[in-house]
Amino acid sequence: MAELQRPTLCCCRKVLTVPGKSCESGRGLTHCRPTDVASASNFHSFKLRHFHLDLHLNFAVKRITGWQVLELTPVQPGVQSLILDTHPSLLIHSVDCKVPGASGTPDVFISLTHRVEPFTDYGSSLNISLPPAVIRPHRAFRVTIRFTTTDGPAIWWLDAELTCGQTRPLVFTQGHSVCNRSFFPCFDTPAVKSTYSATVRVPDGVTVLMSASRSAYSKQDRVFQFSMEYPVPAYLVALVAGGLQHADIGPRSRVWAEPCILTCAVSKLGGSVERWLNVAEGLFGPYVWGRYDIVFLPPSFPIVAMENPCLTFIISSILESQEFLLIDVIHEIAHGWFGNSVTNATWEEMWLSEGLATYAQRRITTEAYGEAFTCLETVFRLDALHRQMRLLGDNSPVSKLQAKFEPGVNPSSLMNLFTYEKGFCFVSYLSQLCGDIKRFDTFLKAYVEKFRFSSVVAQDLLDFFLGFFPELKESCVAQREGLEFERWLNGCGPPLCEPDLSAGRALTGPVQHLCDLWGSDPPDPQEIATYDLSSWSTFQTVLFLDRLLDRSPLPQEGMSLLSSCYSAFLDGMNAEVQIRWLQIVVRNSFYPDLPRVRSFLHKHTSRMYTVPLYEDLCCGVMKCFAVEVFYQTQGRLHPNLRRTLQQMMFQTSALNTSAAQSFFSSPPSVPSPTDPPANGTIALRDVNVSA
Ligand SMILES: [Zn+2]
Repeated sequence: MAELQRPTLCCCRKVLTVPGKSCESGRGLTHCRPTDVASASNFHSFKLRHFHLDLHLNFAVKRITGWQVLELTPVQPGVQSLILDTHPSLLIHSVDCKVPGASGTPDVFISLTHRVEPFTDYGSSLNISLPPAVIRPHRAFRVTIRFTTTDGPAIWWLDAELTCGQTRPLVFTQGHSVCNRSFFPCFDTPAVKSTYSATVRVPDGVTVLMSASRSAYSKQDRVFQFSMEYPVPAYLVALVAGGLQHADIGPRSRVWAEPCILTCAVSKLGGSVERWLNVAEGLFGPYVWGRYDIVFLPPSFPIVAMENPCLTFIISSILESQEFLLIDVIHEIAHGWFGNSVTNATWEEMWLSEGLATYAQRRITTEAYGEAFTCLETVFRLDALHRQMRLLGDNSPVSKLQAKFEPGVNPSSLMNLFTYEKGFCFVSYLSQLCGDIKRFDTFLKAYVEKFRFSSVVAQDLLDFFLGFFPELKESCVAQREGLEFERWLNGCGPPLCEPDLSAGRALTGPVQHLCDLWGSDPPDPQEIATYDLSSWSTFQTVLFLDRLLDRSPLPQEGMSLLSSCYSAFLDGMNAEVQIRWLQIVVRNSFYPDLPRVRSFLHKHTSRMYTVPLYEDLCCGVMKCFAVEVFYQTQGRLHPNLRRTLQQMMFQTSALNTSAAQSFFSSPPSVPSPTDPPANGTIALRDVNVSA
């Protein structure tokens, strides 16, 4: 196994050219380069201008066969090899090189030798030897790699039975964080961006979509052509192919979905998306990607949503929960500025994407739906953050905004609510420092303008912030420490401060009052009856249920009373509400409502609505019930989810680690019961995280 040398890092989290010599607060030195311990590639040695994928999708054998052309220029002298990220599931057939001839001489074509070496359990390295006679600094050349995918973590093949319509198979890819190295060989690091194009051949009747700004279809050849004109990192290259249809919902937006859910999807989003885009443009500057389309994927989609540029991927299960759908789509829209346009250069600073996108999402909802609604949603999510903190303890390293992970740790396993909500609190803190929310909007607009289509580290953001607000810089003697940036970024535990959410009190107050009434001994049914949950918004109801869940186990009489008050009513509510009520049922071992748990698990086959319930069932006294329901429903579950649930039920000691890892990067490697948990991984129970 190749040993990974971790380079010395400067305080600004870039590689130090002179070990031990930091770069004066990490600022202003151009020789600092971002590093990425999650990539085996030598991306620093090249400039990647563009790459092209030529793919043939074979649904019968669940394989993609094709080739890829990378347009590279060496930027360092003495480069002898090209090292790309790949995966054991990717079969490399051949590698060729074309070097343009100099001044009238013909192009040179050379077959290159290559070898694949182990790297981590989420990838390997493809080491391609380059001929020294033709590879010169700053002289462009092309490498062509022929390959076939097999059963890699990026590519999800769904048999027809696993789709919504159950008539045609479907395939989609999920690159975040480090999965796309099993889709095609690449510099699989967010530090590298390039344009890309693709040619995709499929059987008749299959529609292909990609995260691209242009597309065309030749019916005669059954070939789809795509082009992404703006530079993106490898993890944002995404593809979906299946029986998809579309309907326009705005001047630059359309919804794609299987025919059986298209009408519903359009009715939930029609008219809103363009409005949200307009609000976002007013706050943060132009939307640069051209189109903003959305594709609804079957319940097997492993996360809630993914911000693939020009084409948000979102799970169809969210359609019935209108307020969650709204928040999730607005969040993905916000990534158009934060995450996709300006990207975190390393996975250790994912908050630069998620924290800023969450802040931007809340600025958009404040403008579109008012401060009270936004505060309610924020209270709900900060509650979840504090719940996660209670599970992890105050000193958990994953609670750092600048998470440091050792080579070998899968970056996906470090994605947690701190990335989103502690990141959001830090951005809110910056906006408080500048003292005026509108001025801070102007700053964010300028930040996007300055760093558009590039990858940044936290220091880039903070330097630009202090440059934009010179009075803050002057008022602070020791720059980082004076404004507590260092404590925010490298301290464990809760956010140093949280924004003022009192504007949401009209909505959160009744929730807390009702919780308090249920907490009194004995609860007063008459006073409780004065609260009408049917008049509440979804976020009020889920906040109420989450807080009851925090108090579980509840006294048995209280549980009976709760069930008689709410169970039938909550049955008719959306899945986000229902799953919380059913978790209360399970955690309180309240057998009379167990049939509702069964029918919910028979209806829902997504990870987000099954894993939390199964976890509770397996932790309590209802494991036999869980096993029974699992055997009744497993035929309709995606193999990756089936594997996760099997681990949970039959290898309980590996539960927490496997559940957390597989949530974001399936299929998981199956740890043996004796494996120690991976560094810093956590169980993601109670967490509804969109990517
Ligand atoms: Zn996100």
